[in-house]
Amino acid sequence: MKVNPAYSTKEALIALYNKPLLELVFEAATIHRQFHNPREVQMSSLLSIKTGGCAEDCGYCPQAARYHTDVEAHKLMTVDSVIEQAKNAKANGSSRLCMGAAWREVRDNKDFDNVIEMVQAVNNLDMEVCCTLGMMNENQAKRLKNAGLFAYNHNLDTSPEFYGDVISTREYEDRLNTIDNARKAGITVCSGGIIGMGEAVEDRMGMLMSYMQMETPPNSIPINALVAVEGTPLENQKPIEQWEMIRMVATTRIAFPEAVVRLSAGRTKMNMEGQALCFMAGAGSIFAGDKLLTTPNPEFNEDKEMFEILGLIPKAAFTEGEKPETLPDPIIEARKAKEAARAQQLEDAKAKGFEPRKVTVS
Ligand code: SF4
Repeated sequence: MKVNPAYSTKEALIALYNKPLLELVFEAATIHRQFHNPREVQMSSLLSIKTGGCAEDCGYCPQAARYHTDVEAHKLMTVDSVIEQAKNAKANGSSRLCMGAAWREVRDNKDFDNVIEMVQAVNNLDMEVCCTLGMMNENQAKRLKNAGLFAYNHNLDTSPEFYGDVISTREYEDRLNTIDNARKAGITVCSGGIIGMGEAVEDRMGMLMSYMQMETPPNSIPINALVAVEGTPLENQKPIEQWEMIRMVATTRIAFPEAVVRLSAGRTKMNMEGQALCFMAGAGSIFAGDKLLTTPNPEFNEDKEMFEILGLIPKAAFTEGEKPETLPDPIIEARKAKEAARAQQLEDAKAKGFEPRKVTVS
């Protein structure tokens, strides 16, 4: 049951969200147990592979170049440093690595080739690889799929009605297209939203309705609480109560019984009891590690302690789908062949006694 037919209208979802809290949690916990192992929670790590300097204007995001925040822009990480971070995340119990680049869209250039190599390498470590790189077309999605990408994250963020209050540089429709491109390439879709941006409950449920109306709803739905960062347009938003997070997780769980509901940004503002209710209500994943792209997150050790107290077990990779195969990427292979041929020519020339000409620039 991909979607719950009992809650296929916005009115039904709003009524569900507003149910007495413990009844809502009980209903969500019951559904969760029918479709998932309630003790298993996936530990995922989120790595910012290219930070800051983004041309978009997402009102919640400290990485947008136009806002004056403390985030320092960094160019794309090297493939080797990503592999090192992935190994470290795996050693700490993460079975999924999400790589985020602050790009408006994917461009067919050397940076994207490097991302392809990152995906290949992390998939070969037997971790689920997820990328969030902005908008992408069908060909780019196919290259990522062939590299071994398991999931593509692209959030709708909120309802179509509230969307324009937060973002103006791209349309809701653009987001739907990117999600569609990932789906067509055979990549699983991770798409969710942020609460606490000033939206109404109707908007939170409006976002869930957008997922309800998809031919295939997302396999994974991250629920984030806004982390209001100084310098962004949403810097003065009052933090939401953790009860709202619990309600949102529970409602999402009931509406999409098969999806993995991910308790994502904003956990630092929740106590362990609040998080426990989220797990009870069906959250099947957390982000582990002290940073969530650029905002703070609980440390690995704190989460290990919480898992022990609550009797949770880290979920293994590929329990929700087969490990994708990593195939050679024709563009990268052609580039490497060209580089090898050039190196060979140089060797041959040296063997014949030719020295490469030194060019002096005055
Ligand atoms: S959320 Fe993504 S697209 Fe929007 S400003 Fe931040 S990095 Fe750019």
